[in-house]
Amino acid sequence: MQTSPDKRDPLLSTPSPDFGRRAPAERPLQPTIIARAAHSISRASISPHALKVLYRLKDAGYQAFLVGGGVRDLLLGIVPKDFDVATNALPEEIRRVFRNCRLIGRRFRLAHVHFGDEIIEVATFRAAAAPEEVDDEDHREMDEDARAHDDSGRILRDNLYGTIDADVWRRDFTANALYYNIADFSVWDYVGGVEDVRARVLRLIGDPEVRYREDPVRLLRAARFAAKLGFTLHADTRAPMRELAPLLAGVPAARLFDESLKLFLGGHAVASFATLTEFDLLPHFLPPLAEELAREPEGEAARVLRLGLASTDERVHAERAVTPTFLFAVLLYGPITRLAAERSAAGVPAPQAFAEAADSVISAQVKRIAVPKRFTLPLRELLALQPRFERREGRRALMLLSHPRFRAAYDFLMLRAAAGAVPQALADWWTELQTLNAEQRLERIAALDPGESADGAAPPGRRRRRRRRGRGGGGSGGGDTSGGAAPDA
Ligand code: ATP
Ligand code: MG
Repeated sequence: MQTSPDKRDPLLSTPSPDFGRRAPAERPLQPTIIARAAHSISRASISPHALKVLYRLKDAGYQAFLVGGGVRDLLLGIVPKDFDVATNALPEEIRRVFRNCRLIGRRFRLAHVHFGDEIIEVATFRAAAAPEEVDDEDHREMDEDARAHDDSGRILRDNLYGTIDADVWRRDFTANALYYNIADFSVWDYVGGVEDVRARVLRLIGDPEVRYREDPVRLLRAARFAAKLGFTLHADTRAPMRELAPLLAGVPAARLFDESLKLFLGGHAVASFATLTEFDLLPHFLPPLAEELAREPEGEAARVLRLGLASTDERVHAERAVTPTFLFAVLLYGPITRLAAERSAAGVPAPQAFAEAADSVISAQVKRIAVPKRFTLPLRELLALQPRFERREGRRALMLLSHPRFRAAYDFLMLRAAAGAVPQALADWWTELQTLNAEQRLERIAALDPGESADGAAPPGRRRRRRRRGRGGGGSGGGDTSGGAAPDA
């Protein structure tokens, strides 16, 4: 059952640049095969678990290839994020080969082989057309009904199995459609992917408009890979993007949540934001933010956003934790702050204005991106705590320090200070306060001058607390934090 295409010298058979655009009948039945000696992929850079899966499938008599981003990244000399395997073994056959295996997905059936924290994803070759990756609880695949499209051409199910030379045409970009064969360590290229990787070009396989309609998430994937890899989008791949961007409205919001994390928590948030903007995808992905930036492209919200995404990238590169809560706080701070200020100006008390603004912006956003409540609830809290940093005197400051959300709120305060939304001295005061013991903290708070508190910003109806006079005056470590810099949130 194994197909064995003849091995040709890759130098003699450079693929034509518009390979991918050929009609199915004209598509090459044989790949260009790049022998081990002619490419740079070494087994030493492949995860031992992925190698184990590949060898085990091969030893069981199946074809087994490393595919997708793993092959692409290894050719580029980048450490792959994960390793995907493609095989001619059917899902049930894969399960029989591996004890540590779970079949997942209905719309797009996959095997996950588990090794502790690492999961190797194993997919059976698909018969032509393209998949959507995410599980869809509504559908159980049935033989007579293994593939379905909706009215706009979107693929709803894709569980017809095929061979490698059918599978390749339903992959998205040529750079993602290279197959590393564990049988002889060669790379199989049907679509000119090696050439495109070398030229750093991102090119959709097939007719771009058809491929975006089949799965509009490819619009976001195009923006993401352009950002992550620094590739240039091929003119044909880029041309229909703006016009088709509204198709994102038809993509399940849960899938867009996954995609948002890949875009912004993968270490390339700043670059991804730039490509999303460049290809006009933002209004269909992050509508409240897009609206805010359209109103004020260089305002406070834009600065918080820019610095927030940059610090997210830094944290990822330093292997520090990043959270969807903080990310969406960065993405929604601008629109929530503006709306809260508008309500406040209309006479709504500040805490209520904030609550209404947060409700309204978050509910508009989750219609597009299904951010789970376990992230939106702390996000609201984190933003709601911001005004409390400006009211430092008395026990309130100490209570804030022990608030369960203090750390995240403090990180966000630092971001706002860097963006010029609050004085840096206020942020420094809180930084220092955390280094002090209980007694020193009381002294520090007692030492505040009356003018240094922004108590005037407290919501009407709240009792002002009497301030104890500081001992010995001076040296509060704070700065001018009065009035005007109070956030609207
Ligand atoms: P990375 O893992 O670095 O984000 P990747 O290219 O491996 O990038 P995955 O989402 O892991 O992306 O998918 C693995 C492979 O599956 C892709 O390289 C591509 O060949 C195929 N694929 C994934 N999503 C799609 C899609 N929406 N349409 C067509 N092919 C896809
Ligand atoms: Mg991958």
